[in-house]
Amino acid sequence: MSAQKKFDLVVIGAGSGGVRAARIAASHGARVAICEESRVGGTCVIRGCVPKKLLVYGAHFAEDFEDAQAYGWSFSNLKFDWQKLIANKDTEIDRLNGIYHKLLDNSGVTTLMGRGVLIDAHKIDVAGQVIHGDKILVATGGRPFVPEFPGSDLVITSDEAFHLETLPKHILIVGGGYIAVEFAGIFNALGSRVDLVYRRDLILRGFDDDLRRNLEHEYQQKDIQIMHHCNVKRIEHQGKRLLVQFDNDDCVVVDQVMYATGRIPHTRNLGLEQVGVATDAAGAIEVDAWSRSSVKSIFAVGDVTNRVNLTPVAIREGHAFADTEFGNARRCADHELVPAAVFSQPPIGTVGMTQAQAHEKYGKIRVYNSEFRALKHTLSGRQEKTYMKLIVNDQDDTVVGLHVLGMDAPEIVQGFAVAVKAGLSKQQFDATVGIHPTAGEELVTMREFELIE
Ligand code: NDP
Repeated sequence: MSAQKKFDLVVIGAGSGGVRAARIAASHGARVAICEESRVGGTCVIRGCVPKKLLVYGAHFAEDFEDAQAYGWSFSNLKFDWQKLIANKDTEIDRLNGIYHKLLDNSGVTTLMGRGVLIDAHKIDVAGQVIHGDKILVATGGRPFVPEFPGSDLVITSDEAFHLETLPKHILIVGGGYIAVEFAGIFNALGSRVDLVYRRDLILRGFDDDLRRNLEHEYQQKDIQIMHHCNVKRIEHQGKRLLVQFDNDDCVVVDQVMYATGRIPHTRNLGLEQVGVATDAAGAIEVDAWSRSSVKSIFAVGDVTNRVNLTPVAIREGHAFADTEFGNARRCADHELVPAAVFSQPPIGTVGMTQAQAHEKYGKIRVYNSEFRALKHTLSGRQEKTYMKLIVNDQDDTVVGLHVLGMDAPEIVQGFAVAVKAGLSKQQFDATVGIHPTAGEELVTMREFELIE
């Protein structure tokens, strides 16, 4: 085998986790190669967080223009051009893709375009070329999951939603998780009629129940139709449109059906089985806290391990892996108190336990709730409410959960997450002076609580 094909580390998958691991390992002096079958940047940059957030910004202008009128603005001939938004978004994604290539090049990492498949514990086939890695990191992420049923081939997922040629007049979105809720908000704001089909009774399972209820209320106010306890039975063409039949035999005709029914680890045909890498029932690579798989030379980070499936977590896992294996600094990623956001309209920011989780763990908790109309909307007249909640362990006064639904919630919660992660008490929150007038100041001025035992 020629010298340039032998590496200290070969990374399969150039998404957030893989790229970070490759760059850090290279900075520690390792000879590193990374292979990618699609585009460097991975889910987050190419078909996830970044393009989604650009669409969220684009969509939110609809309400901003409405609200501006109460502030004295008037305009005529307001138009929205979907193709322009998609083209500009694509230009930005191309730019970021280029930056990721440069970051890898500048770090001295060899980038190989092509699908990587494991041949043995050290060898990888990348589009016909065999390379050797003393260590191998699998960071192949996840891919959308769509259940099989008659007509399931007619649906789109978020991957295709980013490239629709036209804005659908009427879209039906299946699922009640992050992606379903975010795209329902985007399409609704841009003027599509949106039906959200969820198989249970309240969207965003796993989030605090009050957040879930309040977001459903906001979505209903915006005329997003949420259909609970509902499942699609079959879909067929009706001319250029789609006829969707539900399990209760109701039907609807729409322009697009989008499935956002979860993502599954991207482990198919990677060669894991023949090399002996253990995977769980969902297909995720089983790893320990150090991201080590069941094969000594093979590691895995990010969504392919199905731990906490968020970009910043994958980045931390990749960084910790590279420091541990190549930087002589043994450490693992911390999965406790990871803040998260849902870029719904209005958005959610959250860190720590839900009320139910805190009650289960601590028994006696104090729950501080606040619901108010943001100052901006006193003039605009928009009925949208901001909702905030603090959950405190009554025994030691620690804030164990903090949840916000409303304008700027993710930005607010990113700051407050430091306090929750640091284990600060409610008293320390109260000792912090608010910034007036902001929404965030509410979180340091909450006085009334409900004691739950
Ligand atoms: P989620 O796991 O969040 O939600 C999947 C949804 O689909 C759930 O409501 C689930 O229902 C429902 N569902 C699953 N299977 C079926 C089925 N067979 N029929 C009908 N409904 C079904 O997945 P998403 O696709 O929304 O997102 C994938 C991951 O991507 C998230 O877990 C998150 O980690 C990440 N992500 C993060 C974002 C962010 O940080 N803002 C944004 C987008 C994605 P049930 O509740 O009953 O299980």
